Amino acid sequence: ATLRATRTKKTKTVCTFCGVGCTFEVWTKGRKVLKIEPTPDAPVNGISTCVKGKFGWDFVNSEDRLTKPLIRKGDEFHEATWDEALNLIASKFKEIKERDGADAFGFISSSKCTNEENYLLQKLARSVIGTNNIDNCSRYCQSPATTGLFRTVGYGGDAGTIYDMAGAGLGIIVGANPAEAHPVIATRLKRARKVNGRKLIVADLRKNEMAERSDLFLRPAPGTDHVWLSAVTKYIIDQGWHDVAFLHNRVNGFEEYKKSIEKYTLDYAEKTTRIPQEQLIETAKMIHEADGTAIFWAMGVTQHCGASETSTAISNLLLVTGNFGRPNAGAFPLRGHNNVQGACDFGTLPNFYPGYELVTDDDVRERYEKAWGVALSPEKGLDNEGMLNAINKGELKAMFLMGEDMAWVDANSNHVQSTLEKLEFFVVQDVFFTKTAQFADVILPASPSLEKEGTFTNTERRIQRLYQALEPLGESRPDWQILIELANRLGGDWSYASPAEVMAESASLAPLFAGVSYERLEGFSSLLWPVQADGTDTPLLYTESFPFPDGKARLTPTDWIPPVQMPEEYDLFLNNGRLLEHFHEGNMTNKSKGIMHKAPDTFVEISPELAKERGVKDGSLVRLQSEYGAVKLRVVVTDRVQGKEIYVPMNSTSEISAVNLLTSSHSDATTNTPAYKEAKVKMQVLEVE
Ligand code: SF4
Repeated sequence: ATLRATRTKKTKTVCTFCGVGCTFEVWTKGRKVLKIEPTPDAPVNGISTCVKGKFGWDFVNSEDRLTKPLIRKGDEFHEATWDEALNLIASKFKEIKERDGADAFGFISSSKCTNEENYLLQKLARSVIGTNNIDNCSRYCQSPATTGLFRTVGYGGDAGTIYDMAGAGLGIIVGANPAEAHPVIATRLKRARKVNGRKLIVADLRKNEMAERSDLFLRPAPGTDHVWLSAVTKYIIDQGWHDVAFLHNRVNGFEEYKKSIEKYTLDYAEKTTRIPQEQLIETAKMIHEADGTAIFWAMGVTQHCGASETSTAISNLLLVTGNFGRPNAGAFPLRGHNNVQGACDFGTLPNFYPGYELVTDDDVRERYEKAWGVALSPEKGLDNEGMLNAINKGELKAMFLMGEDMAWVDANSNHVQSTLEKLEFFVVQDVFFTKTAQFADVILPASPSLEKEGTFTNTERRIQRLYQALEPLGESRPDWQILIELANRLGGDWSYASPAEVMAESASLAPLFAGVSYERLEGFSSLLWPVQADGTDTPLLYTESFPFPDGKARLTPTDWIPPVQMPEEYDLFLNNGRLLEHFHEGNMTNKSKGIMHKAPDTFVEISPELAKERGVKDGSLVRLQSEYGAVKLRVVVTDRVQGKEIYVPMNSTSEISAVNLLTSSHSDATTNTPAYKEAKVKMQVLEVE
C-alpha cells in the first residue's frame, strides 16, 4: 500500500460533469488527484477542457462523502454494515412486494451513473421486482427533445458529431447556453465562426455569451419559440426555398404539414413573439443560403408545457430544408448530464427496454424474458411525475433512488419533499448525504466515476470507457456492485464479474448496441450508436434512410401551446439555468474548494430598468416568492436580462436559495417534463446594500 501511494498513476477517464463527453488522463498519487491531462487522442475535446473538467475533482475526497451505509432509527441515522443495510432492504422489499405487488415500487436511476449501472437497475426493477416503474432525470430535461425526434426522424439522439456541429454553415442555438453548460462545444462553435466564417444565430431570452458572439440575436417573448420556428418554416416554403427533392424522396406528410402552419404568418409571429419581421426573414434567408444548418437546443425549449411541440417544430424545419442525413447539418439536442443519453439508451425509462424497444412489444419482451428467465410486465410503467402522484395516492409504497437529488432538482421542491415523506420505505444510493437522502430509510454509500469502471455516452451518442483511477473511499462501493448484491438478496442469480460482462449482455439483447464491446472501446476508442454486430458504428445518422418501416421521415404537424397563465400579482418572469463553474444543483461542485472560491453561491440577475424601478443595486438582498415557495437571493444587475425577466442559476448551497422552491408542477403534456421555465414571482426588497 505504501509503495502504491508513492507512485503517480495515469488513468484514462471520461468527465463526470456535462454531456460533451470530454476524455483525458487523470494523474493520481494515492488518493490525491494531481492533475487532469488532456490529450490529442480524445475524440471530442482533444486538448481542451473546461474549468469543471480541469479543476472540479476534489469532491471525490470531500469530508462529506458517505463512507458507510446508514439506517434510519426514528429521526436519526446510524452507521450499519453492508450486510445489515442490504438485508434490511431485501426483507422490506420482499414484505412490500408480497403485500402490495410489484407496481408498489418505483425506481429512479441516474444520469451520473454508467451505462452498465443503468442497465442493471432497469434489470433489477423489471426482472427481480417485476415493474416498469423506472425513470431517470432525462424526464427533467431532455424527454421532449427525444419525443420531437422520435416523431419525425426516428432516433432519439444527435444527428451527427461535434464536428458536424462546428462544420455547419449555420448554427442556430435555441434556448441553450453552451458557453456555460457545454463549454467545449461552445469553444468549437466560437472557433467555427471566428476562424472558418460559419454563421451563428442565437434565440434566447437572455443575452448570454453566445448571443454576444452571434451574427443574429433573436429575443423571443417567453415560451414562444414554436411560433417563430413555424413562421420561419412557412416563409421558407412560401419563398420556394424548401428542398423539393429531399421532401419528395425521403419525407412523408409535406402537404398536410404545409397546411398546418398556414396561420404562422410573419405578422402573427411578430405580435406573439416580439421578434421583428425583418429578423425572421433574415433567419429564413440565412438558412436558405447556408451550406448546412444545425440546430442546437436544450432546456430553454424543453422545460415548457409545449416542449415536445417546439422540439418537433425544430425537426420539421430541418426536414423541410433537407438538413438531415448530410454532414454538417441536423438536429442536436444538447444533453445536460454526462450520461443522460446513456441512462435513456440503456433502458431506465418506463416504456423502453435498452435501445428504445417498447416494453409493450410482445416479441421484444419475449427476447428479454428468455434471456432473463422470468415473466416480465407488459404494461408501461410510471414516469417520475406518475410515481410522485402514486405516492400521494398511497399506491406506491417503496422507492429506490440511485444518484439523483430529486428533492432539489425536481420542480416545486416543497411538494416533492412532502411527497417523499409519505413513502413507507425509501432507499437512497449516493456519493453524498443529499437533501433527498434526508427522507430515506436506508442510505447506501456509492462511488463516483473516478472509483469505477464502465462506459458513458455523450450527447453525440458516443460510447466511451472510463477506467478506475482510485479505490472506493472508505466502505463506499461502485453502484454496479451494490446492485448485484441487492439483486442476489432478492432472488436474482447475478454473477457479473465486471461491467464488461454487463455490456456484453446488453449488446447481445439490444440491436442498437449489437457490436459494442470493451475491446472495441479500449483506451480512447469510442463507438457511436447504432453499432452493427461487426463493430461498424454510425457517426452520422439517416444517410440512407430513417428508421421507420418505409425508411422515410415524417413531417409532423404540431400547434403552439402558450405558456401557463399565473396570477397577476406574480409580475416577474423567472428564467433559470446553469452557471459555468457549477454543475446543475451543485451536488458535486459545491464540494470543490477551488470552484466554491470562484462561485460561492447563486444569485438573481435583474435588468438595469427593473433595478432602477425597485431601487436595488448589485449585492442587494431580495425575497422572491412564487405560488409555490420563496427564496432569498443577492442581486446582480446586468443587461443580460431585460425588463421584467429575471434569471437565477440553479446551483445553490442552502435551503433558502434553491430555485426549485419557486418552480411549479406544470409540465409538458406529452412527456411530463416539468415546465421549469414557466415560473413567475414577485419580489420584495429586504436590504439595499
Ligand atoms: Fe468537457 Fe463538459 Fe467536462 Fe467541461 S464539464 S470538461 S465541457 S465534459
